[in-house]
Amino acid sequence: METPSYWKSTLKEIDETVNSIKKGKVKTAYSAGKRPIYLVEYGNRNNFQRTANFSSACGCHDMACYADKKQPDTKPCLLLVGATHGAEFEGTVALLNLIKLLETGTDFAGKAFPMFDGLLEKINLLIIPCHNPDGRARVPFDTVLGMSFEEFRYYAQGTWKDGSLAGWPACKKHHPILDKVDFLGAYYNDDGVNIQHDDFFKPMAPETSFLLDVVDEYVPDATLLLHGGTNTHDGLLPPTHVPLYFKEQTLQISEKFKAACEKHGLEVNVRGLFGGMCQNDNYPPFYVDLVSAVTMKCGELCMVYESNQGLSYGDYILGYDEIYMHHMLLFKELVDYVEGRIEDLKKQ
Ligand SMILES: [Zn+2]
Repeated sequence: METPSYWKSTLKEIDETVNSIKKGKVKTAYSAGKRPIYLVEYGNRNNFQRTANFSSACGCHDMACYADKKQPDTKPCLLLVGATHGAEFEGTVALLNLIKLLETGTDFAGKAFPMFDGLLEKINLLIIPCHNPDGRARVPFDTVLGMSFEEFRYYAQGTWKDGSLAGWPACKKHHPILDKVDFLGAYYNDDGVNIQHDDFFKPMAPETSFLLDVVDEYVPDATLLLHGGTNTHDGLLPPTHVPLYFKEQTLQISEKFKAACEKHGLEVNVRGLFGGMCQNDNYPPFYVDLVSAVTMKCGELCMVYESNQGLSYGDYILGYDEIYMHHMLLFKELVDYVEGRIEDLKKQ
C-alpha cells in the first residue's frame, strides 16, 4: 500500500506546513520535551467583555459574564486538535491538508474542496495540528496503515520493564508511567504523562495546561480531539461527566455526520445516549478524561473522534482516502454546527 502524496504527518511536515502559513496567525507553546506545539488561528478572537470565570458565571445564572456570545459581531469558533496520543495522527494529516487548503485553495494532492469555500469569512478556526509532539517523535513512521496489532501497541503504549507490551487499557494502571516502562509509548509526553488522563485540577503536563488555557481564552463553540482507535468503526464520543445536553448535541452531530458519510459510501458508528461511553450514572465513574475537562473548563461541547487506523487485522480496515475523507466530512459538520449554534444564541 503506497502512501499518498497528501499523507503528511511527521513533526518536520508539521513545521513546514505551519511555516508556510500566511492567512493565519501561529502561537507556539512547548511540550514537556521542549518541542513546539502550534496553535494556528484563522480569524479574530471574539471580545467577550468577560467579568467572571465560567464557574462564577454559572453561579450567577448569566453566561454572558464569561462569554457573551449574543453580541451581533460574535463569530462562531471551532477548535480542532490532532494527536493528543502521538501514534494516532490520522487527524494531523487531515488538519495539515485543511491548512494547505485554506492557504492555497487545494490540499497537498492538489484537490479542491468546494464544501469549505468561504469558511474563513464564516467562522474563527483554531487548529492544533499535533498536541503531543513528544509522543509523535517516538513513532518513526509517516503512517501506521498496514501495521500489525502488536507493532502498533508497541509504539502506541510502549513496553513494561520486562519487555512485554503495556497494552490498553492496562497501561493506565500507572500514571505517570515513566519509571515503569522500558520503551515509552507515544501515548505519553516525555514525562510519561497521558494528557487525556492528566490531573485536570492541577495539570502535570504543559500540553494539558496549554489546551485548557486555549479553550478558556477562546471559548470555542465546539472542540474536537482527534484520536485513532485502532480498527474501530469511526465515530464521535461525547464528554461523559457533563450535563446531558452535551451528549444530545454529540448525538445530533453524529447523525448528520453519518448521513454525510453515507453519501460518500462511508460508515459511521452512531453511539446511543445511554450506552457505552455516554454512561455516567454508575459507580465507579466512567471515563473522567480530557473531553469532560475541556467541556467543564469553558462550558462548551468537546468531543473525541475515534478514527479507524487501517491496521492489518480484523474485518474493518480502511484505506488512506477513506480515513482522510471521514475527517474532512466531520470538519464540515462541525463548521455547520458552530455556525448554527451562534445563530441560535443570537436569536434568544
Ligand atoms: Zn487516543
